[in-house]
Amino acid sequence: MTSRTGGCLCGAIRYEFKNDPTVAAICHCTHCQRQSGGLFSTNLMLAEADYVQTGETKVYTDRGDSGKAVWRHFCGTCGSPITSRVESMPGFVIVKAGTLDDFKDVKPAVEVYTDHAAQFLPPLAGRRFAQGTG
Ligand SMILES: [Zn+2]
Repeated sequence: MTSRTGGCLCGAIRYEFKNDPTVAAICHCTHCQRQSGGLFSTNLMLAEADYVQTGETKVYTDRGDSGKAVWRHFCGTCGSPITSRVESMPGFVIVKAGTLDDFKDVKPAVEVYTDHAAQFLPPLAGRRFAQGTG
């Protein structure tokens, strides 16, 4: 990826990361749908050590299927979802790809929770399915 910077709608939160994401995954779960207000979220999995943020997010503690915590970080001013951290995956941060300054290099390889995918959305070319995390 050439672009590794992003931020929220109002600009209060900015971030950058080094190294490419471990994986880029589209998530169709109902929680991502509600939190984003969109039909899915595009999640970049990064090592926490590679992620640097300026500005302080608010946090909503959500629960995944496993009952473990999913900490959803968002801008308290404009509401943009920025990152999630998942109790079951310590050391990783999930960045919402829609907040990147430029996401043309993002190539999702996986879709999860496709049983909740909007019916009119075509599947990704060459996609594979995986269990959701959390
Ligand atoms: Zn904001």
